[in-house]
Amino acid sequence: MAIDSRRDFRAKNNMNPVRVEHKLALNKYEVDREAHIRLKEEICRECELRACLYVCPAECYKLREGKVSYNYEGCLECGSCQISCGKGAIEWSYPRGGFGISFEYG
Ligand code: SF4
Ligand code: SF4
Repeated sequence: MAIDSRRDFRAKNNMNPVRVEHKLALNKYEVDREAHIRLKEEICRECELRACLYVCPAECYKLREGKVSYNYEGCLECGSCQISCGKGAIEWSYPRGGFGISFEYG
């Protein structure tokens, strides 16, 4: 008897994989013009570990042309980036009242 692949098993049992991207799309954001995250680029330039690139569940930090850049619009407000940095390069606060993420749909 052949063993089903995971894909076959899911198809037979009407199971769709849950993807993080789909869950994130259920969140609602009120984006403030004022960023609640700031990076001290002079510190990032000297950083070798670049933990922020790996810990952010929303992938707000990216490496572009050898430089770490970020966006704050998709932030999930978990605070992981600031804790993981360890070099004090991230100034982070919650967005101002009325702005930021609402998890009521996710
Ligand atoms: S934010 Fe912190 S971890 Fe990320 S590149 Fe800058 S110094 Fe490194
Ligand atoms: S607070 Fe969380 S979601 Fe927001 S940028 Fe930092 S790691 Fe990403």
